Amino acid sequence: MISMNSKELLDMPIHDFIIPAEKVAHVQLGNNAEHALLVLTKTGYSSIPVLDSTYHFHGLISIRMIMDSILGLERIEYEKLEDSKVTEIMDPDIATLNINDTFKRALDLVINHAFLCVIDDEGTFVGIMTRRVILKQLKKHVYQSKKN
Ligand code: AMP
Repeated sequence: MISMNSKELLDMPIHDFIIPAEKVAHVQLGNNAEHALLVLTKTGYSSIPVLDSTYHFHGLISIRMIMDSILGLERIEYEKLEDSKVTEIMDPDIATLNINDTFKRALDLVINHAFLCVIDDEGTFVGIMTRRVILKQLKKHVYQSKKN
């Protein structure tokens, strides 16, 4: 049996491992914090992408970011949820993958992120690549290499 060597794995394009945009829960720039909290709580995801109406990627928002934004000195100010916007709370400074990147770049980045957002050359959101998917591929590769 011919096994894939590590270089081949690292050079593989990422597009086969992407969870496509239509299956990814997201919020829009204009949404308020209450809506984002609702989506995050209902889906059970720790953080989700923020997109605009043309599907361009703008950042990530998490429950922790939302809770931080309504944390007062003595109480959680839940009434702020309705009036604060996703744009004021999200983290726009997020490392992303390009659709043409290889497995190697994904592997390097996923050490510090549970998932990575994938964008095309125009900044349009294509989907996500999760640490789970990357580890699965790595496991498959390690087990195949052991057999040979
Ligand atoms: P998982 O590998 O399924 O544990 O996902 C890790 C993280 O990736 C989740 O906590 C979410 O932040 C994100 N994620 C995974 N799948 C989705 C999805 N379909 N929609 C939005 N975010 C997702």
